[in-house]
Amino acid sequence: MTRPRRIVVLTGAGISAESGINTFRDNGGLWENQRMEDVATPEAFARDPQLVQRFYNARRAQLKDVMPNPAHLALAEFEKTFDGGFLLVTQNVDDLHDRAGSHTLIHMHGELKKSRCTRTQKIHEQMADITDNTLCDCCGTPTLRPHIVWFGETPLMMDEIYQALDQCDLFLSIGTSGHVYPAAGFVEVARQAGARTVEINKEPSLGIDHFAEAIQGLASVEVPAFLRTL
Ligand code: NAD
Repeated sequence: MTRPRRIVVLTGAGISAESGINTFRDNGGLWENQRMEDVATPEAFARDPQLVQRFYNARRAQLKDVMPNPAHLALAEFEKTFDGGFLLVTQNVDDLHDRAGSHTLIHMHGELKKSRCTRTQKIHEQMADITDNTLCDCCGTPTLRPHIVWFGETPLMMDEIYQALDQCDLFLSIGTSGHVYPAAGFVEVARQAGARTVEINKEPSLGIDHFAEAIQGLASVEVPAFLRTL
């Protein structure tokens, strides 16, 4: 097998599961006992902003109690020594790749530790809870929302992602169920670019047939092992 020169890695909630952050497919379609429709859509925010803010406040607070696991760390370590092109795209809104030391990283679904002003669209660092009394730094009004891409909204930095997919020779998908588009379609783009396509997941994903290779197992074990083979 020739050594890849340009790699795109896609991660999903499964890579953070062993750090103690629940996925939602493993949880009967619920994320921390909430239906996605109630907390992760613009309609939900318009209907009940306090519920949505409380949900993301709790997810943000949870980050203090979790650590990157060997899968996050192996990706960051690999990136440091790899001399080709490398892009890590995560669907996760946690900060575990950042804390592991990953550098070329796109959070396509946003980040828990950021908020966005709904008036100016400015993005702010957000460590504390957002409440009815939290004022936005840019306009001094209580207009902050979580910097999260909700269902029905457009993911971030898609041009950069598709450009990297068009040029990659290895596409590696880790811990994602293949239900959420456009991420679930990345494998097809990479395949058309002629890339080797590999899935690492605890169980076969919905899109497994699109991958040339699939490794079933825990990310903390299989990701470091796979990266050692490159
Ligand atoms: P998903 O919950 O739909 O699927 C997770 C997949 O990971 C499943 O197929 C499961 O079998 C697999 N998995 C579970 N534990 C694993 C392990 N230890 N090793 C390897 N695989 C494992 O997640 P998704 O495909 O990322 O889509 C969920 C959406 O919800 C995303 O858009 C994401 O933004 C959001 N979400 C994010 C987080 C987070 O930031 N950590 C957590 C839950 C949901």
